[in-house]
Amino acid sequence: MRGMDDTLATATDTALTPLPPAPGADRYRSLDFADTAATLPAGQSYDLLAAPESAMRWLAAHDLTTPDVQLYEVCAQRMRTLRAHVRALFAARVDTGTPPEESLRAVNEALTAVPTAPVLAWDGTQGLHRIQAHPTDRAVNHALATLAADAADLLTGPDAGILAACGSAPCDRFLVRTHGRRHWCSTRCGDRARAARAYARRSGASG
Ligand SMILES: [Zn+2]
Repeated sequence: MRGMDDTLATATDTALTPLPPAPGADRYRSLDFADTAATLPAGQSYDLLAAPESAMRWLAAHDLTTPDVQLYEVCAQRMRTLRAHVRALFAARVDTGTPPEESLRAVNEALTAVPTAPVLAWDGTQGLHRIQAHPTDRAVNHALATLAADAADLLTGPDAGILAACGSAPCDRFLVRTHGRRHWCSTRCGDRARAARAYARRSGASG
């Protein structure tokens, strides 16, 4: 039983207060999407797309779905997969490196997998009519296409050069450098980075 309690405690820790949106996340939904998972100090982390319910809340908060759409784990998984590819492209852009081929392909697939036309159906009461097949799939496809397009815009637009990775380890979020040289995603990360620098200075002076 002890072991189970420990497991529960760990599960609670991962539900830590998420960091506030990073600079630029209000203009680029793909940036906020990339930042839905974060590594925090002391080995802690969170993932807003870890479960269908929280993924649903994130989509709704970003006008990417309607509350009546139900998300399944397979949908949340697809979101997490696209997020990993968007993050890989962001990281390559920040490091001015070569973007992974598979991430380019994944983002392009999401971009082009836009909803198809309503299909033709027939039943005894309505006769021939058109219906949206797999509404949940369509909602998720639409959301992923929108996010992929937004990421492509960010990566090729005027803000591509100021896309940055948070400079406060172990944080692994991205931001758009809207405040000059500031390169942390949040006040929390900035305070920690300053404290770490002050600590390093003190240690260097005394040692
Ligand atoms: Zn940060």
